[in-house]
Amino acid sequence: MKSSNVNLAGDELLEARKKIQENAGYHFKNTQLLDEALIHSSYKAENENVHVDNQRLEFFGDAVLQLVLSTFLFETDKNAQEGLLTRMRSCLANEEATANYSRSLELDKALLLGKGECLGGGRERDSILGDLFEAFLGALYLDSGLQEATEFILKLLPPIEEVKKKLILTENPKGALLEICQGLKIGRPEFQLVSTTGPDHARVFEVCVIVGKRDYAHGKGTSEKQAERQAAAAAYRIIQKEHNGTYHPGKAAVTNTVVALDFDGVICDSASETAVSAWKAARTIWPSLFHRRLPTQKNIDAFRAVRPYLETGYQAILMTKMLQEKLPISEFELHLNEHFQRIMTEHSLTQQQLIELFGATRDNWIAEDQQNWLDWHTLYPGVAEALKANLSKGGTHFIIATTKQERFVSAILKNAGIDFPEDDIFGLERKRKKPVLLAEQLRLKPMALYFIEDRLKTLFSVESDPELESVKLIYAPWGYGTANDAIIAQDDPHIKTMTLQEFTDWLATVS
Ligand SMILES: [Mg+2]
Repeated sequence: MKSSNVNLAGDELLEARKKIQENAGYHFKNTQLLDEALIHSSYKAENENVHVDNQRLEFFGDAVLQLVLSTFLFETDKNAQEGLLTRMRSCLANEEATANYSRSLELDKALLLGKGECLGGGRERDSILGDLFEAFLGALYLDSGLQEATEFILKLLPPIEEVKKKLILTENPKGALLEICQGLKIGRPEFQLVSTTGPDHARVFEVCVIVGKRDYAHGKGTSEKQAERQAAAAAYRIIQKEHNGTYHPGKAAVTNTVVALDFDGVICDSASETAVSAWKAARTIWPSLFHRRLPTQKNIDAFRAVRPYLETGYQAILMTKMLQEKLPISEFELHLNEHFQRIMTEHSLTQQQLIELFGATRDNWIAEDQQNWLDWHTLYPGVAEALKANLSKGGTHFIIATTKQERFVSAILKNAGIDFPEDDIFGLERKRKKPVLLAEQLRLKPMALYFIEDRLKTLFSVESDPELESVKLIYAPWGYGTANDAIIAQDDPHIKTMTLQEFTDWLATVS
């Protein structure tokens, strides 16, 4: 690669420029535009007689690329929501992608760099090559317009299925690795920490990934999770290369079973913890009303009885206040929002204040005594054993779809001895409603998708979405539904109700 350390000149440069236009299937009318696109700012800085570089064209080409890709994706995938469209577009327009377009067109060879950049390997650097591609595109657009620019880009793009595959690899490399390993039946990937180096404030973790006793790849990162993701992506590429042609995700028959589990009310009973957190928070607002530091068992049982009416965490504070006011359960069932409004007005409280108070109360509790906080959560009987049994068997892909924060879910599962892949926990941070999350899963590959949920409203929102017609819905009556909810679920032909026993038996064996 010696030659890449210097700029081409004379005939060699002319030849390289000719090759670029052949590769692009496009010949410039105004070759000055091509000249400009191939001049890096470092070259201009070193050559007094050079007055332009490719930065203005890059600015322009960036916009052209966004427009062409948006139009293409919008028209090609009519079912994709805005979020998925954005992610696909960024997958096709990010630095790595645009740098690779530059390489495939051989733009890098004719690029003029300053001496330092040349010697420093600038010709191989993604950031420079990505900008170079955008500048070239800007030049092509200015030379002949949108029609030509569109045709040019579309020829470079991989098929949309490839894009989706790549998206999984970028967003969830561990999931992608697990899937390819399962598809090829070569064993389940295991991650092992190889070393931790660096000072406390700048730790570097090195992790290796082993599949069927073979050490496939190593990854490094500032967290173990980051290192695992990197190792997984590297291992995926190696395996894909080695088995080229033998693994076609998506082409196999529908053998992928994906089980999407709600967390609170399906896996974990957190009603007591919520009752305590709400009590502690309420106590800071109304100290005279809550003189005990912690609720009694009777208080907790009372909260559990009204738990079905809770929609989001902070409301638990208001409900705890309502319980102290000795309001009957019918008030919770029928006039909940009126009471929320009344209490908030009476005490000049805003929703934002309550959200922050509830979060801070919980965070303080965890900071003071995390184990104690964890101990207030209980997994429903048999769930941990069933989940562990199935996870160790491999083959079934579980995901957790929850409105809880991912770090909480992860800690609670760890505390119960369950090693659940963190990338498969889709929590509050992802900001996706459950139907959107399920639709995204379905688009990734053919699958049998099960969704287990204790909140009837959520099941209905999935049921009414035509895109989610194939999802098998299971209602969990052991969670936070009312007796009335159970009757409605029973009557719905599209929703299956399982008892907790039936669920754990199924969970241990579903494949
Ligand atoms: Mg739930």
